[in-house]
Amino acid sequence: MAIDSPLAERFAAVRHALPPTCQLLAVSKGQDAEVIREAVALGQRSFGESRLQEALLKRERLEDLGPLDWHFIGRLQANKARAVLRHFGTLHSLDSLPLAERLQRIAMEEGVAPVVFAQVKLRPDPGKTGFEPDALREAWPRLADLAPLRLRGLMTIPPLGLDPAQRLALFHDCAALGRELQLPELSMGMSGDWREAVQAGATWIRLGSGLLGNRPAAEG
Ligand SMILES: *Cc1c(COP(=O)(O)O)cnc(C)c1O
Repeated sequence: MAIDSPLAERFAAVRHALPPTCQLLAVSKGQDAEVIREAVALGQRSFGESRLQEALLKRERLEDLGPLDWHFIGRLQANKARAVLRHFGTLHSLDSLPLAERLQRIAMEEGVAPVVFAQVKLRPDPGKTGFEPDALREAWPRLADLAPLRLRGLMTIPPLGLDPAQRLALFHDCAALGRELQLPELSMGMSGDWREAVQAGATWIRLGSGLLGNRPAAEG
């Protein structure tokens, strides 16, 4: 692929804007395996997927590339927990204490030690799951002790319809909660709001359409 392809240009622009403390997760849900292949050729190793079956089918077609860093960012269903733990090294969407306990038990059985982000809901949003801050504080004594899970950070998705100043305030709230709980990582910022997330201290931004292009497949 030419180094001046549109994809290469988008990668270069985002990388240029990121401080060294912030990593780039390329959200490849809904994208063909070939797009992932092109991104790998541009040096990207970390990819986010939100549907297990789709991810596994694509990964079969990319086996020749060797191991990549796969992150699960979708809603975690209890009945898929084992498969997700077998195939993903990082989970961004831990949204309840019962799920945490289930993941802990299965991770022990599987002999894996994934990095985990607790998803937090900092504003009312009927369309999203996640811990509300007080619920997270209440669950904290148990959540802080989930070895072999490595709970390292918070993940958040702002509700639709906020303006940039409101999103920035939300991301700052997330950063403050992370500091309070002494969690070093913050997974926040998507194509429409990653600049505000970086400003507030994101350590991972999750970019899909704005990086890899519009998703040809159905959204999910
Ligand atoms: C789809 C998705 C993204 C990427 O969204 P874009 O707007 O395409 O950048 C990031 N995070 C999560 C949890 C997602 O589901």
